[in-house]
Amino acid sequence: MNIHEYQAKELLAQYGVAVPAGIAAFSVEEAVAAANELKAKGATLFVVKAQIHAGGRGKGRTVKSGAKGVILARSVDEVKAAAESLLGDVLVTIQTGPEGKQVNRLYITDGVDIAKEFYLGMLLDRSRSQNVIMVSTEGGVEIEKVAEETPEKIIKEWVEPGQPLFAAQARRLAFALGLEGDAFKKAVKFMQQLYKAFEATDASIIEVNPLVLTPDNDIIALDAKINFDENALYRQPAIAALRDESEENPFELEAGKYNLNYIKLDGNVGCMVNGAGLAMATMDIIQLAGGQPANFLDVGGGANVETVKNGFKIILGDPNVKAILINIFGGIVRCDRVANGIVEAVKDPEIAAKVAQVPIIVRLQGTNAEEAKVIIDNSGLNVVSAVLLKEAAEAVTQALA
Ligand code: GDP
Ligand code: MG
Repeated sequence: MNIHEYQAKELLAQYGVAVPAGIAAFSVEEAVAAANELKAKGATLFVVKAQIHAGGRGKGRTVKSGAKGVILARSVDEVKAAAESLLGDVLVTIQTGPEGKQVNRLYITDGVDIAKEFYLGMLLDRSRSQNVIMVSTEGGVEIEKVAEETPEKIIKEWVEPGQPLFAAQARRLAFALGLEGDAFKKAVKFMQQLYKAFEATDASIIEVNPLVLTPDNDIIALDAKINFDENALYRQPAIAALRDESEENPFELEAGKYNLNYIKLDGNVGCMVNGAGLAMATMDIIQLAGGQPANFLDVGGGANVETVKNGFKIILGDPNVKAILINIFGGIVRCDRVANGIVEAVKDPEIAAKVAQVPIIVRLQGTNAEEAKVIIDNSGLNVVSAVLLKEAAEAVTQALA
């Protein structure tokens, strides 16, 4: 789960991580009030930052006003103008995709003077089963680009889960950034506090880009992105409450309510599969047969009428879907039961109306697969049964032609 930058910074501040002063605003009036409040505390430079669940805002532009997603303002009037140009408009950045994201919230921050910009990221390194902390002197730049072109500029330290980020490790990282004196000490503390926040909040990624050194030798997180492990949200109610559903894909949200594991993709073949591994393999085989998967959907172990119905509703809610491939392996669940579930689900009036235009190819393999095929073939519905996965994928691509 993602949260907004202002939420991330408020959270990090609770762990003693240095962030600029800032106030979230949901309207132009609130933005002006926020700027006045910051001004009263001595701010002379303000930053108006679009709050969307995507990075690259500084280089992004809004569709109507052409404003940047991060605007430096020298006065309250400039904050007002910036807020007017952003709120309600759609911001397109390298991370939003061409459709962009509507700006509904702003973060007005006390502008910081920058001496140097660094990169700092923490995440799970699956290959080592450890957390990794990465820093780079190439701040403000896309870290993927640095990783590709000058990987030697990314310095890493690994931490065993359950262990802290030791001072010696934080010192090595701070040293790699070329820091000295006060700034060096502050960076060590910053990294250790940030790592505490990472562990305590069940974060899967924390990215601070840029981490800045100020002319006064302060070390401050100018930007903060946090991603949380959704499997741990049950024990993080305060973080779960930060969810902004308007930032999420409506189909994925709906699927979450049904306990379905669904990820929307750009293709036109809807897939309904039991088991994540089989779902991945199914997407691969669709591609191999010349199609493009419209989604990843794992209905879990027990595919019953209810889960199949909900799966259909979500898949058919995507107007790009031109065919559906159902690929169920009957291990614990018997294929004939699943087949009956599919036949039953397709009779649902809401589903039936849409299915008339969308051919369904069903591949049931495993326990009672033959009986299942008979049930599908005799159903009189717009459903084609297949036995081999390859046949199923080819039937789908033929249905699309
Ligand atoms: P992103 O583009 O979505 O990653 O948004 P950031 O929060 O990283 O802001 C983009 C850029 O705006 C940063 O890399 C900085 O160069 C600049 N910026 C953001 N906040 C400040 C600030 O307080 N002072 C100054 N001088 N520049 C800032
Ligand atoms: Mg950034």
